[in-house]
Amino acid sequence: MTAKHHNITALVTGANGYIASWLVKYLLEQEFTVHATVRDKTNQNKVSHLQTLINEYPGKLTLFNADLFNNGDFDEAMEGCELVFHTASPFIIRGLNDPQTELIDPALKGTRNVLESANRIHSVKRIILTSSVVAIYGDYVDMQSTEQGVFTEAHWNTTSSVGHQPYSYSKTLAEQEAIKIHEAQSRWDMVTVNPGLVLGPSLAKASDSTSLSTMLELMDGTLRTGAPDLRFPLVDVRDVAIAHINAATTEKALGRHILVAGSQSMLEMANIIRKKYGSKYGVPRWQVPKPIVWLVGPFMGITRDFVANNVSHAIEFDNQRAKKELSVQFRPIAETVLDHADQIISDGLV
Ligand code: NAP
Repeated sequence: MTAKHHNITALVTGANGYIASWLVKYLLEQEFTVHATVRDKTNQNKVSHLQTLINEYPGKLTLFNADLFNNGDFDEAMEGCELVFHTASPFIIRGLNDPQTELIDPALKGTRNVLESANRIHSVKRIILTSSVVAIYGDYVDMQSTEQGVFTEAHWNTTSSVGHQPYSYSKTLAEQEAIKIHEAQSRWDMVTVNPGLVLGPSLAKASDSTSLSTMLELMDGTLRTGAPDLRFPLVDVRDVAIAHINAATTEKALGRHILVAGSQSMLEMANIIRKKYGSKYGVPRWQVPKPIVWLVGPFMGITRDFVANNVSHAIEFDNQRAKKELSVQFRPIAETVLDHADQIISDGLV
């Protein structure tokens, strides 16, 4: 990586998160000055890994408190920043009591809040928005109605709602709101990244990200009796972090960028882990037939609509734009899965 950004200050929202932690680390490696917002900078459990980076890069990383729900909370941290990486947003799929207040409100109000701060803070030149492929599609079955049989940046999720795939709905509403706010002004521009399911080693020890629970489920025996025939569009967390930085530093970059290295089923991912570790970690060996998943899904926090529209369906994305425009070189999925498995084992999580 080149070290040429010593005079640029960047804000990262939700900086303690799974993806953002790698982003902060790489920004510091590239000599950016980083303003990092977290919900509570005294919460050691959440920020100890950022504290390590503060010690490693003296004077280059500062933590600020900011909550997505509080108007004006991001102003102080944004002061003097040329770049704003807006990553903060809950990525929770299971165990939700109230999707509106737990997912949609923080995603939507938070995006409004951060972008309205950018409208007030005149140093801001570019916003890099962490959206998702779930703002592109609602259910895998939607791919059948695409012209080329593949999702591209031109597609939008039109099938999610508060009641069905609320996380996907939250990311769709947030990206659409960001576009509206961006188009209403002309001082800052906006580049969006749309990652698939992000995997790879975690620097964050206390993240609620579904990325981490999904990978853990593959290795903690939860799926010992079998995995659903569910494919995931996957991408490495380190590639996602680099794509964010390239989105910031590539002047001509604009609009959306799909970040997906390729798609793999849960069983294919399990096979990669088993090849190295054998049967030690209770990774699944079989696929559970769809009718059984349909039957038991609701007891495992998966709705029958989700099973019908996603299990045993293909999912493919065109990633050419990110490769060409953001110079992203996607790591092989096997490397991502194994590096993540190694980190889970060495951190004693299984
Ligand atoms: P994560 O580790 O859970 O990070 C989410 C961040 O958002 C955390 O810092 C969290 O703070 C913060 N946050 C949540 N509610 C907040 C609130 N009310 N006020 C302030 N901060 C709040 O998850 P992640 O996987 O890194 O996700 C980061 C971003 O990437 C999200 O926008 C997500 O939608 C997007 N994304 C993720 C994936 C993926 O597979 N991981 C794929 C595509 C897009 P706390 O730690 O205090 O809760």
